[in-house]
Amino acid sequence: MTSSRGALAPASPPPAIDRSLADRLAAIVGDKRVLFRPSELLTYASDALPSYHKQPGLAVFPGTRDEVVAVVRELARSNVPFVPRGAGTGLSGGALADGAVLVGLNRLTRVIAVDPENLTATVEPGVVNAALSRAVAPHGLHYAPDPSSQAACTIGGNVAENAGGPHCLKYGVTTNHILAITALLPNGEIVSLGSASGETDGYDMVGCFVGSEGCFGIALDITVRLTRNPEAVRTILADFLSLDAAARAVTSIVATGIIPAALEMIDQATIRAVEASIYAAGYPTDAAAALLIEVDGADAGLERDVATIESICNSSGARTVRVARDEAERARLWQGRKKAFGAMGRISSHLVVQDAVVPRTKLPEVLDKVRRIGEDLRLRVANVFHAGDGNLHPNIAYDANDPDESARVQTAMHAIMRACVDAGGTITGEHGIGIDKLQYMDLIFSPDSLAAMCSLRDVFDPDRRSNPGKVVPMHSCREWHGARSARQDAAKGPPVA
Ligand SMILES: Cc1cc2nc3c(=O)[nH]c(=O)nc-3n(C[C@H](O)[C@H](O)[C@H](O)COP(=O)(O)OP(=O)(O)OC[C@H]3O[C@@H](n4cnc5c(N)ncnc54)[C@H](O)[C@@H]3O)c2cc1C
Repeated sequence: MTSSRGALAPASPPPAIDRSLADRLAAIVGDKRVLFRPSELLTYASDALPSYHKQPGLAVFPGTRDEVVAVVRELARSNVPFVPRGAGTGLSGGALADGAVLVGLNRLTRVIAVDPENLTATVEPGVVNAALSRAVAPHGLHYAPDPSSQAACTIGGNVAENAGGPHCLKYGVTTNHILAITALLPNGEIVSLGSASGETDGYDMVGCFVGSEGCFGIALDITVRLTRNPEAVRTILADFLSLDAAARAVTSIVATGIIPAALEMIDQATIRAVEASIYAAGYPTDAAAALLIEVDGADAGLERDVATIESICNSSGARTVRVARDEAERARLWQGRKKAFGAMGRISSHLVVQDAVVPRTKLPEVLDKVRRIGEDLRLRVANVFHAGDGNLHPNIAYDANDPDESARVQTAMHAIMRACVDAGGTITGEHGIGIDKLQYMDLIFSPDSLAAMCSLRDVFDPDRRSNPGKVVPMHSCREWHGARSARQDAAKGPPVA
């Protein structure tokens, strides 16, 4: 990759976005693809996390790769900050553009090439995750990372967030499935990162770009690794009368050395929401928790894994353990899990979903703390999460128009995050930092680590115009600037009187 390194000064305040910029962008993409009226921009003032509303200055929706390049070059010429956006399903406020230009990539939906022999596909960034798996299904292949939002979220958004999903326990998260990226830097330069063969020469620039949350530029096209469909799959539902017993079963299953394709936990509050919705999956509503466990691979041997898992669940206190009889039952069990957040939409007008990771062995302890935090703050906290990865998703249904309840939700989120970090965990498993978790970065990163992140970002975007104000708290970048000039002054020696 090539890049000219610019000054490390913090981004200067963006010039006000005026009608003439809208006209220049409309000349590239057409009038209908530029939105600037406040009422039109409302849709883009949040992502799937309802806690934040930040209206873009304007929104532009290019339809081809050339249009994206022309738009970004115009924004570079005009020194205007911008925010890439895929489907807006992010849960950390990452795609919000506070007065900046929102560049929507959801019209770039072409699967450019599929290479079934080499198990790769090259796609535009707006391709929806599930659509990619559908496109390659005739070859007996699929794209393994499967966020529960896969029916809507885009591969570009997945790359930016290093998205995970239920099957990432066995198959790895997004970064393990991205071979190459053509990236459009904020200055309008196009760079190729990685290679279709998966070999990296020199630094792993794909690894660097994946998870950069739109702060390094736009993923223009993406070459992904495809995965062969397994010969056989078994899906097991085990239900428990205590959350603690279910959590202990998770640790025991992984300790056997079996790596399930997925190992998900759904607690009672979530089960009840799912069962009361159109996504009802047949989960027992009186259970304290259910585990959805999947094993896959060669047919021979799978029954042995199923028997081992059944026996561990039973000895951990499972009330019932059942194996899906056919594909229809399996699909139904998964639908309940994947649509759980949607089902919770019936309970309350708003839902916040937290994302943190704890060592698997700490699950019982942390889940108990989460329960107590909810009780103390009089909030309904439900849990549905990737238990095999120790990736918790406590979620709270609330009314964002109630200031007192909203304040208690924020207090709970903070307390939950603290509990996870205290247990040796970290502040995100898959949803990224965005703006929501800026406040927690200091819990796990030293000022030096944050400064290193700022320096890395400056390689791609020295003017900090791409998704400004995300991932690294502003004060950290400023501290770094202060520290840097102090170091430079020190290197020059004492001032001459
Ligand atoms: C119901 C539900 C379930 C979910 N389940 C999961 C889950 O299981 N696992 C998981 O990981 N996440 C999950 N998510 C979160 C979300 O779907 C993922 O983070 C997803 O990757 C976001 O994709 P998107 O296209 O919606 O991106 P957006 O929300 O539009 O953007 C997310 C970030 O990506 C950047 N971005 C978008 N496109 C590009 C691009 N082409 N180039 C550079 N940057 C870009 C944006 O600037 C922003 O920072 C869930 C969300 C919901 C609502």
